Amino acid sequence: MSVRLRVAPSPTGDPHVGTAYMSLFNLAFARQQGGQFVLRVEDTDRARFQADSEQQVYDTLAWLGLNWDEGPDKGGPFAPYRQSERLDTYRPHVEKLLADGHAYHCWCTPARLQEMREDQQKRKVPTGYDRLCLGKTREERAALPGFAETPVVRMLVPEDPPLHFTDLIRGEVNAPMPDDQVILKADGFPTYHLAVVVDDHLMGITHVVRGEEWISSTPKHLLLFDWLGWERPQFAHMPLLRNVDKSKISKRKNPAARLTWFQEQGYLPEALLNFLGLLGYSLPSGEEIFSFDQMSASFDWSRVNTVGPVFDLDKLAWLNGHYVRELTEADLTARLEPFLRAAGLYAGTPEQQALLEGAVPLVQTRMAVLSEVVDLLRFLFVDESAFAIDPAAAEKHLTDAAPVLTAAADALEPLTEWTTESVQQAMDAALLHGLGLKRGKAYAPVRVAVTGSAIAPPLPESMALLGRERVLSRLRAAASR
Ligand code: GLU
Repeated sequence: MSVRLRVAPSPTGDPHVGTAYMSLFNLAFARQQGGQFVLRVEDTDRARFQADSEQQVYDTLAWLGLNWDEGPDKGGPFAPYRQSERLDTYRPHVEKLLADGHAYHCWCTPARLQEMREDQQKRKVPTGYDRLCLGKTREERAALPGFAETPVVRMLVPEDPPLHFTDLIRGEVNAPMPDDQVILKADGFPTYHLAVVVDDHLMGITHVVRGEEWISSTPKHLLLFDWLGWERPQFAHMPLLRNVDKSKISKRKNPAARLTWFQEQGYLPEALLNFLGLLGYSLPSGEEIFSFDQMSASFDWSRVNTVGPVFDLDKLAWLNGHYVRELTEADLTARLEPFLRAAGLYAGTPEQQALLEGAVPLVQTRMAVLSEVVDLLRFLFVDESAFAIDPAAAEKHLTDAAPVLTAAADALEPLTEWTTESVQQAMDAALLHGLGLKRGKAYAPVRVAVTGSAIAPPLPESMALLGRERVLSRLRAAASR
């Protein structure tokens, strides 16, 4: 039988980086085995639902090249793939569990449950539902305080639930004792626990690969599989991604928890994919740079980490720089344009295209992320009237620099040919030989005067691109500051 795996994000805001990480590992195994990868949208938590989140999941996963075979947008043999459209599918299973005595109605109000929990905490006993409603008819329960008209359905966890299971990554796992989990809410929606089991079964999922935060829920899921008479899938619980301080990565605290952040910053999808792979996996060769296909071809559960990998953005920046340098100039140009456009610096005129073509080789080796292009090349695309010099750079390099700037302008003005070589020769003749300065000292004020910044692509190349007119007017303007 061919394997079937799934990723099951909940549309509760910007897609979390963990969704990509889980998709990558599910897909690497599915593709290696020639199986299927399903995208299922788990939108049963109506309080946290956000409408545009689902589209963002599609967009970010597609951007990463993590392609699913079946999903709400693609359809497939087990459609619908959105849980809110499957409510009728869950109900008969709830009825069966009730009829078999594996589940019961609970009419406790949220306030009563809250009181119960506070009391348990005060008495330092394990928290969990106290089964006030178990074995009671509606009338019997209605006579007691804290009664809600619409009941929920809870599972009746036996004394000896399956607390041990075999995990593909971790081997034998011991999970904690569950309590009587709600499986059907008062709004008629199933909870995650019921929906995940029903759907994994009906969709023929053979391997459940998900984050380690779900280990404690697995006994409940095993119970449901057993009660409903269904074969259990295999489980693999991936280590959670951690911040450098070992805390869990949350969207509230870390912008890098949001997948869209990586797009905004200009990380390349191939670099992010390699990074996510490296966080949980290592190739047998130990090689750190690898593609999805290499990861998938070598995939082996025994090579997956069990300890929480640290989300080290320095490492990602290093990887990204590597992938940026691997791009062809045409490809890099196409990927940089949107950043310059968004910054209002670029409209794609033929002159601008020519400038960018000349500038790309200069920035390719100087960038960790694509968004840096905006600061690196602002000097080239900025409207002359809006050209400004960074005050800190001016303070540091332009104080008393008028003689150097004037000497440079005087030497450059009469050049008949305006190329990188002629510009460099003229500057060296005037500033190094003429004024007796070292190159670093001589170029620094010129760089700040013509690019507005102390950090820029190589200077003679930049000046050659910028053109004589703009170079001379910026040098003269800076000299007379
Ligand atoms: N909807 C769950 C989540 O958002 C899926 C967990 C699972 O894969 O079972 O993490």
